[in-house]
Amino acid sequence: MSDVIKLLPAHIANQIAAGEVVQRPASVVKELIENSIDAGATHINLVAKDGGKTLVQVIDNGSGMTDVDARMSFERHATSKIAKADDLFALSTKGFRGEALASIAAIAHVTLKTKTHDAELGTVIVNEGSKIVSQEADMCKNGTSIAVKNLFFNVPARRNFLGKNTTEYRKITDEFMRVALVHPDIEFTFHHNDDEIYNLPKGNIRQRIVQIFGKAFNERLVPVNEETDIVKISGFVTKPEFAKSKSDQSFFFVNNRYFKDRYLNHAITNAYEDLIPSGKYPPYFLYFDVPTQSIDVNVHPTKTEIKFEENQAIYAFLRSAIKQALGQFNVAPTLDFELEQSFVTPALKAGETVKVPEIKVNPDFNPFNTSKASSTKSPGVSGNKGAHGFSKIQPDKNVWENFYDDAKSEEVDKEKSEIQHNEVTLSSSLDNEAGDEVSIEKKKPVQINDKYILSSLKNGFILIDQFRAHCRILFDNLMMADHSNEVQKLLFPETILAEKQDVPIWKEILDDLNELGFDLEIENCEIVINGQPVQAKEENPVRLLTQIFEAYKLTEQNEELDVKSRLAISTASGLAIKGGKTMTIEEMEHMIDALFASSSPQLSPHGKKIIETFTMDEIFKRFN
Ligand code: ADP
Ligand code: MG
Repeated sequence: MSDVIKLLPAHIANQIAAGEVVQRPASVVKELIENSIDAGATHINLVAKDGGKTLVQVIDNGSGMTDVDARMSFERHATSKIAKADDLFALSTKGFRGEALASIAAIAHVTLKTKTHDAELGTVIVNEGSKIVSQEADMCKNGTSIAVKNLFFNVPARRNFLGKNTTEYRKITDEFMRVALVHPDIEFTFHHNDDEIYNLPKGNIRQRIVQIFGKAFNERLVPVNEETDIVKISGFVTKPEFAKSKSDQSFFFVNNRYFKDRYLNHAITNAYEDLIPSGKYPPYFLYFDVPTQSIDVNVHPTKTEIKFEENQAIYAFLRSAIKQALGQFNVAPTLDFELEQSFVTPALKAGETVKVPEIKVNPDFNPFNTSKASSTKSPGVSGNKGAHGFSKIQPDKNVWENFYDDAKSEEVDKEKSEIQHNEVTLSSSLDNEAGDEVSIEKKKPVQINDKYILSSLKNGFILIDQFRAHCRILFDNLMMADHSNEVQKLLFPETILAEKQDVPIWKEILDDLNELGFDLEIENCEIVINGQPVQAKEENPVRLLTQIFEAYKLTEQNEELDVKSRLAISTASGLAIKGGKTMTIEEMEHMIDALFASSSPQLSPHGKKIIETFTMDEIFKRFN
């Protein structure tokens, strides 16, 4: 047999290796910015298009490269940062593997422009899929600009694997923030498509946090500053009342690198103990300084885990440092967290209380009367739909079947078949005292614990979760059709000042929000609210929309549901009456009627159980 082993051509080897370093546009952003920092830049501009799929470009005013180095920089294992193995243990640079540029060039169209400060002319190199297409001397600014176009152009499978532009954009933003937060002494800008997302002048850590997360953060920050022999911890945690439902503002850095650590994260949760409920996360920005020998720096370039030698000691020290910081600033919670946890409450100012939305019911609504539209109208509502979200819903007979299947009573089964044949009988049974006993009995519903509605059946009873039931009713109504022509106009438009990095997300969901009954426009970073869904009635539009947006961001990874459904779920959750609200008998009766007229009375739009059935058989057994 002849010899079969061959060395792979360099460009194929590079393409394979590239997979390790470059997973997505955000990896390119990380590598390029880190190179700029290593090159001593004090000014770094990031430009991305279409979530980085079309373009990622980083322009810096760092050292630049000579023409020979520029050519070399694309070679695998070409680095200026280490020369011998020992150097690995005294690293002061972010890169050292010499892999990033080789990897990026293997799977993209790269244009490198660079000039050292003492050279007259710079160098421009075009590299496409590891092939140098051209190299020329040219006028260039001091420093380096690297433009990476058409990522994965030659690996279609990888390209298809990328997320939506907004998903990739968010990952780029995360990567950008992670670097910007450790280098407040470097000026950064970030442009995405035509939007300026960040423009961060030089400052200190506190100023950088505020530049990125907004002015409101200034008063939320609690400084942490502790030092022992093994570690120095500095940075900020936040007052407990500003804890969020998402842990996306949790940042650990060690020796100026971002890292994730669930164990140390637990130390923080633990330090906050009773100050915040579970499921809430306090934003934090904590910087560890340890001797370089005490962590393993030789981690994979894309990995964010770091192994500390003295993990347990650091845990204990971190916990006490935070407890002390919180204690020193006499930080006490001011938020009532007893509210429905399934919905995000925006951060409130101290002393402000949470308003429980009123129940919105249409007293005239009869779920089985489909011929006449409901009669109540809100001011400014056009069309003949009721303002309460309960109108025009077709009763679903299957719903009643399933419902009574649960009760497993022969008698009910018999009666059920009668319902199927005679809807009119059922309808009247709901309305008058002489009603058929198959229907929910004429006995009045009872509210339990201000959270559940107990409704008697002939053969038992059901418990209905009031919040989930109302979510279902509102959700169906919001999803029913395009509501954009029956908006409740506001007398005076209101505005929300969006955070810069959120603007592309607002743009993405604007049409769907308008279909759900909002009337919104975007002007730069301002979301102008001209109107809101009629179901929202007197609800504060800014508060409602902020809640919807926050909740939407939480479900952004959920690609199973379309955008409109996800927005409708958060709108419904925001408007639905929460557990803890006392309801009148009429309100409960109307809610029950509307629930059974909805598309899916058993399941809330979040997929949670709305109704629990208790049969007499079960109850008898309990008394045996
Ligand atoms: P590493 O950063 O691990 O050394 P890279 O592939 O990222 O490897 O870069 C290769 C080399 O190219 C670097 O060691 C550096 O000398 C040079 N280089 C890359 N980017 C820049 C830049 N923005 N400014 C100056 N030199 C750069
Ligand atoms: Mg590098």
